[in-house]
Amino acid sequence: MARFDKLKDSLNSRCVNTSQLEVHHKNRGLTENEGLNDSSNAEVLCKSCHDNVKQRLDKPEGNPEFSDEIKTAALKGSGNRCECTRKNCH
Ligand SMILES: [Zn+2]
Ligand SMILES: [Zn+2]
Repeated sequence: MARFDKLKDSLNSRCVNTSQLEVHHKNRGLTENEGLNDSSNAEVLCKSCHDNVKQRLDKPEGNPEFSDEIKTAALKGSGNRCECTRKNCH
């Protein structure tokens, strides 16, 4: 499985940063059904990727902070590594 994960990572060119991780809201809550503060809406990003994402947004993230439990779970799920796979980012 580890080999497959590595292959998948390289195909998606996932960011390798493991420091300054922040939990990003994938969905920013611009409509009523969006922006849930639950783990399905959490994405672990390093500071530089998070800044890049924020720069691309036309509006700032309006969601309240995730709870510590969700942050901890998201970090664990990411393997304490940035989950960004955006192109032209990191
Ligand atoms: Zn990153
Ligand atoms: Zn990135």
